[in-house]
Amino acid sequence: MERQKLIDPFGRGISYLRVSVTDRCDFRCVYCMSEEMTFLPRAELLTLEELDRVCSAFVRRGVRKLRLTGGEPLVRRDIMSLFASLSRHLKAGGLDELTVTTNGSQLGRFAGEIAGYGVRRINVSLDTLMPEKFLAITRWGKYDQVMKGLEAAKEAGLKVKINCVALKGVNDGEFHDLVAWCGENGFDLTFIEVMPMGDIGGETRLDQYLPLSMVRAELNKRWTLEPIDYSSGGPARYVICRETGQRIGFITPMTHNFCESCNRVRLTCTGTLYMCLGQEDAADLRTPVRASEGDELLMDAIDEAIGRKPKGHDFVIDRRRSLSSVSRHMSTTGG
Ligand code: SAM
Ligand code: SF4
Repeated sequence: MERQKLIDPFGRGISYLRVSVTDRCDFRCVYCMSEEMTFLPRAELLTLEELDRVCSAFVRRGVRKLRLTGGEPLVRRDIMSLFASLSRHLKAGGLDELTVTTNGSQLGRFAGEIAGYGVRRINVSLDTLMPEKFLAITRWGKYDQVMKGLEAAKEAGLKVKINCVALKGVNDGEFHDLVAWCGENGFDLTFIEVMPMGDIGGETRLDQYLPLSMVRAELNKRWTLEPIDYSSGGPARYVICRETGQRIGFITPMTHNFCESCNRVRLTCTGTLYMCLGQEDAADLRTPVRASEGDELLMDAIDEAIGRKPKGHDFVIDRRRSLSSVSRHMSTTGG
């Protein structure tokens, strides 16, 4: 049976799938994980072949953009074979874009290879240009390794967008430097507000929360920021920095609602499909994948899930309790 393109009950076409390929990571960023994380047993993870099957099912149903994320996607063993197999959809024209969000630690090894599989743009997370601060934020990260990874990405011809989480009292003195540095390197830059996801141990998100309106006000003191219409299909609002010529984006899930135009769903490494980043409702796709070799059951489960995609989310940083409003970690759903 030929199935229709995926359209949710609010008329939004589903064209973007983000896939967390692992919950593991070689960093322990303070806003993302606690230092002592318990990771999933291997049997619970979709195999790379199963991930390919689910992604390919979505491509057949109208998804045009796939983003691999994590955890750290590039630390999953043999992950290049997934890039290789998914690249067939780029060649066949079923997919417009295959991309990845990474902490950059493995780009020295893999940048050339992923470019060879048709990846054109990547997101690299980097919150500071100060090595000691980088260590304080990531706990386990190696700054020089990430810088080498970024060089390798440039050499491979990949377009890089830097993701920077704005953290009160941590990197708020560096925003101008980040803009200038991204300008010199030809990188776009997106600022992200801290979201209340997952228990991260001692600190609370309230301590870290910095509204991007304040980031923007600070940047306006030194840079000429011109709003542009550009959309990456996501929640970021973009400006062009006239002095550097690079785009700067602002992702403000807490203070603005971007749900009306939401075209995306998220798959975890265990095959759980989240229809909304901010809500708990989810659908199990692993059971139908494992129940039969054909994709009929999987397609039924996808249809049923998209039929439940909610209209919107309601994140709140609760000022009295500062509890996490969504219990899973960002590294589970992949941000
Ligand atoms: N490990 C990869 C990386 O760091 O780019 C991919 C996964 S990571 C979960 C994806 C993005 O989510 C990163 O840019 C990270 O900074 C961001 N992130 C993680 N926890 C967050 C939180 N609580 N609030 C806002 N952004 C968060
Ligand atoms: Fe790892 Fe990315 Fe989370 Fe940092 S933000 S701990 S690099 S998954």
